[in-house]
Amino acid sequence: MTATVAIEHVEKRYRAVRALHDVSFTLEPGRLSALVGHNGAGKTTLIKLMLGLIRPDKGSICVLGENPAAGEFAGRRSLGFLPENVAFNAALTGRETLAFYARLKGSDAKQGAALLERVGLGEASRRLVGTYSKGMRQRLGLAQALLGRPRVLLLDEPTTGLDPALRLTFYEILDELRRDGATVLISSHALDELEGRAEQVLIMNRGILVADGTLAELRALAGLPIRITLKL
Ligand code: ATP
Repeated sequence: MTATVAIEHVEKRYRAVRALHDVSFTLEPGRLSALVGHNGAGKTTLIKLMLGLIRPDKGSICVLGENPAAGEFAGRRSLGFLPENVAFNAALTGRETLAFYARLKGSDAKQGAALLERVGLGEASRRLVGTYSKGMRQRLGLAQALLGRPRVLLLDEPTTGLDPALRLTFYEILDELRRDGATVLISSHALDELEGRAEQVLIMNRGILVADGTLAELRALAGLPIRITLKL
């Protein structure tokens, strides 16, 4: 299997803060991976690097065979991203919001309506986003991230504040994408919700990747006071 994302020996500092230290891992097509860690562990920094928004101080990042920070990165449109706190223009309807993002991404605007249906916002698609609940905005965020059928989907804390039913819908959609061969990475504070869903768990602690394996493998090794890197 060819990795869609390869992170090798990455270092990243923000002045005195060491955000990432010698981080290496790969993400594979058709796999749901979880990036877990406390506040400040370095999860968002990793996502920004994969999106090409920032560059590493050392090491390399390869997404769909290229450096995502390069100006001519051809895979840009194949990346879907859902930020942690997605903010939408309250004065646009759901449908208009997706049409706006479709334009930005250069993807088919017609896809928006189908995606709104898929995330359960079909009926609300003509309502102003300002009237949406938090859960509805999250679903709109997912629909936005899915525009253009991304091959790599990066989701930063996507289910925070969602009720259990919505979480289920969320994971059902992600499963479909995975079956289509998409690479899905979810950043999260909580491991429990990803149980039985994530096939790869990456645990970050203060900028260091302390574990990379299946949940069962990590459980078996839990408590070991050493750095563990498991091969899947
Ligand atoms: P959270 O769960 O709170 O979003 P995180 O795991 O995503 O945390 P990062 O946001 O990647 O962690 O932050 C890693 C470290 O880098 C933290 O110590 C954070 O304070 C620091 N940091 C992140 N961005 C910047 C920045 N732009 N300038 C300075 N320090 C930063």
